[in-house]
Amino acid sequence: MTFSDSLTAPLPLRIVAGGTTRSASVRNALDALADDPEPVVDVFIHDAARPFVSPKLLADLFAALGKHPAAAPALPVVDALWTGHGERVTGLRDRSGLYRAQTPQAFRFDAILNAYRTQQEAAADDVAVALAAGLEVAIVSGEETNFKLTYPQDFARAEHQIKERSMDVRTGNGFDVHAFEDGDHVILCGVKIPHTHALRGHSDADVGMHAVTDAIYGALGDGDIGQHFPPSDPQWKGAASEIFLRHAVELAASRGYIIGNMDVTLICEHPKIGPHAADMKQEMGRIMGMDTDRVSVKATTSEGLGFTGRGEGIAALASITLVTA
Ligand code: MG
Repeated sequence: MTFSDSLTAPLPLRIVAGGTTRSASVRNALDALADDPEPVVDVFIHDAARPFVSPKLLADLFAALGKHPAAAPALPVVDALWTGHGERVTGLRDRSGLYRAQTPQAFRFDAILNAYRTQQEAAADDVAVALAAGLEVAIVSGEETNFKLTYPQDFARAEHQIKERSMDVRTGNGFDVHAFEDGDHVILCGVKIPHTHALRGHSDADVGMHAVTDAIYGALGDGDIGQHFPPSDPQWKGAASEIFLRHAVELAASRGYIIGNMDVTLICEHPKIGPHAADMKQEMGRIMGMDTDRVSVKATTSEGLGFTGRGEGIAALASITLVTA
């Protein structure tokens, strides 16, 4: 394998030798594409010194190429412009209609190839070549984050930007059990279900919601439901467990996280969960401010084994993913 092969494998990239100027390098690449057996329709010409180009910017440029032979990103100049000599301001310049150019600059391939083939002198960028050939160039809104790495301090800014972008993903699990006692209904994942028994607990004993709440505290590394809402505190007697779940979701939000998805499994022989699962999903999604396609509520029996099998109570197991907002 040659050195250039090793650089491009496994990507379908081709390396073209550069020229003595930027324009000559671009010209070489365009000539190489012109020889391609597959006809090239559009071409994007980019400076590697701008490593933060976003998929959105590429999509915007591509869309602009549908209407124009050329399109390039730019940002309007917002600072006042002066001329100066030495350390003295010598005059002012009108900034209206002035833009800071970025790359990638996008072209219909035939148009920019012809422009380069008729251009003799080196140009500052590809838009300059296009304009010299009389091509109309559309301005697409550039991005401040798509800056050019030129000075040493630009690398510090780049490092900061990479850190900001890097996504922190956390997972947490929660497990809870509540025993049956006398009563005529249970509350599971916020839904009241008629039953031969109730669940015993200091609050409304919503075992599913408690497991989910604990999973969030777990992902945050911040204790459990009992620490945040001590059972010894009379104010939580009979409380709706929604209070606990909301607290955990808000705590996650205050630390910069949103909930990627949640999954809870209820373990019992009775009541049957299936007929209520859709309502539970809806209710959990409402409380947590999540789309229901990110919420899962499911159930299993324990095949008659153990305390859940003997109908002594209900257990719940939950998983949560937190991602940086
Ligand atoms: Mg509990």
